This record gives sequence, C-alpha cells and structure tokens, in this order.
Amino acid sequence: MRAKNLPASDFRYNRAVLGNDKKRMEISQGFADTVGNTPLIRMNRLSELTGCEILGKAEFLNPGGSVKDRAALWMVRDAEERGALQPGGIVVEGTAGNTGIGLVHVCNARGYGCIIYMPDNQSPEKVEILETLGAEVRQVATVPYKDPMNYQKQAGRFAETLENAFWANQFDNVANRQAHYDSTGPEIWRQTDGTIDAFTCSVGTGGTLAGVSRFLKEQRQDIQLVLADPMGSALHSWATTGEASMSKGPSITEGIGNSRVTDNLAGTEVDDAVQVTDQEMVTMVYQQMVEEGWFFGSSTGINLCAAVKVAEQMGPGHTIVTVLCDTGSKYQSRLFNPEFLAERDLHV
Ligand code: PMP
Repeated sequence: MRAKNLPASDFRYNRAVLGNDKKRMEISQGFADTVGNTPLIRMNRLSELTGCEILGKAEFLNPGGSVKDRAALWMVRDAEERGALQPGGIVVEGTAGNTGIGLVHVCNARGYGCIIYMPDNQSPEKVEILETLGAEVRQVATVPYKDPMNYQKQAGRFAETLENAFWANQFDNVANRQAHYDSTGPEIWRQTDGTIDAFTCSVGTGGTLAGVSRFLKEQRQDIQLVLADPMGSALHSWATTGEASMSKGPSITEGIGNSRVTDNLAGTEVDDAVQVTDQEMVTMVYQQMVEEGWFFGSSTGINLCAAVKVAEQMGPGHTIVTVLCDTGSKYQSRLFNPEFLAERDLHV
C-alpha cells in the first residue's frame, strides 16, 4: 500500500523494501546468514604509531561473539551435506570455549543437541554461556594432547558411543579452515581492495590462519603471512625452524597456542612468526580499552601486538590485517581481574 504523502520515487523505494526483494532489503536470513561479513576496522592508535594501516577484522561482531562462529557453521553444514549429521542429532566437541559457543548457537538454530568437553583451566564465563545456551558441558582435567584423557580425545571417544552423533573435531576437520578460505579471506581481499601487504594472527586450531592464508596467497604470492604465537606454544618454532618445540610458558591467553601442527594448519605457507609475551598482550588490551574504547580478549591482544611487530619490520606505508577474535567480556574474572594479574606478576 502506498504510504500517504510520499512522492512517487519514495513509493518505488518503499515497494522494494517492503516487497520480497531480499537482496535490496539487505536483511539477514536467520542465524547462519548473519555469520561473517564483519567490518574491517582501522586501529587508529596503532596505525599512527607505526605509519602503517593496521586493520582489524571485527570477528567479535559475529552473532555468537567470536571468530569461531564461522568454523562452527561450516563444520555443521559440511557434516549435514556428508550425511554425518542427521536431523535431531547431537554435536559433540572438545573446545576451549568459543567453538562450543558457536556450535551451540548453530545447533539450537538447526535442532541439534550439543555436548562440550572443555579443559578445566578456562574462564568460568565461557562455561556459563555454554550452559545458558543449553549445551551439556563436561569439564575435564587439563592434560597434554598426548594423554588419552585430553579433552579433545574424550570428546571423540564419547561421540562414538552415541547414535546419530557427530564429533566436530575442529583441530583436524578441514571444514574449519574452509570457512576462512570461503569467507574471511575473500572479505579481507575485497575490503582492502587488494592492497593488503601482510596478514597476521594467532593459532588455536589454525583454521583462521590456514584458510585466510591460502586464499590470500592465491591472489598475490607476495602477501606476507605471519603466525602470531603466545609463550608456551610450539608454533613459533614450527613456523621458523620446521620443528614444533615448545617455548617457555605458561600464558594466560585462551584458545590459542598449540603443541602440535593440526591437519588444518599443515601445509600452510607461513612466511614468518612472531612471539608475544603476556605482558605485551596485557598492555595492549588495556591501552585499547582506556585510550580507544575497545574491549578485547587476550588473543586479540596477541594479534594486535603481532601486527605492530610486523609493521615495525616492514616499515611505514604498509597495510597489515589482523583478527579481532572476541571481546573481553568472557575474561573478566582473569584478564580483567587485578588480583589474577598481580599473582602472575602482570601489570596494567
Ligand atoms: N581467539 C580465540 C578467542 C579463540 O577461541 C580461538 C579458537 N580457539 C582463536 C583465537 C584461534 O582461532 P583458530 O582456531 O582458527 O586458530
């Protein structure tokens, strides 16, 4: 119906908006359709400091709140397409938190159950969110990957005992990196109009780094791919020497660093790696909060420190992209708790 007092041109616009023209309406079609297409944000202070354009991919704006929404959606859709997940089934996963949060959102939206195995050294906020969303959370002792009681291995074994259950297996299921090859990489390429000189991010499963890297290297081989690593991880050594040997830890960062090269990461063309200490990360996260209004989690702090290091190595005039993985709201009891920091000799 034509609105009263609108000129004809407005009427035509109105009809397109109110009609069935989904493209023109720019309305996302539910949860899955809202994953991805995140903004690319200029980090003003860091760009001015380095003379480079330091740009952050705002993955914290995904509907489940982190970069892992993409992996969760791609793994579930891939399992559906392969017939590994049937209607009414259960998704089981071992996760430090964000993949679980992404998965339970996707499971709720598609009618699946969700069971999450999680190491017991993660921030309690993540457990609360998972349980609020309806996941069954099983917190298990934090033991190394080689131990059969490692949370990932327990998840895999438990899924086998259930009927119509699918173990997402984010570390070695390459549908994870495919998410970033199909979506994050092309978005960054488009948003920078192909002017990107370097991409850096930290690695948990490696899905983000591997998928984005593969896509970008196919566009321009000279784009520098730099792995960002916290302390207490073997990936800096893997990227720089080919041998995965652990650096001195521990680190209070969550969801990043690894003792092994996952199937997602394997074969990724990494040009260089940088290490970031917890103190550097803490300083960055608080500076970003107090001086620029952002509220970032620890992996984002590592990524931004890495972007600055890459900028300093490359010199002014370059465009460096990194990932803003999630917000600080899941880390209030740790990263944003002065007592927790002081006990570890970390200073704001
Ligand atoms: N940051 C956060 C907060 C995460 O939860 C994760 C995944 N565990 C990552 C970064 C790393 O992403 P990826 O698994 O794609 O390497």
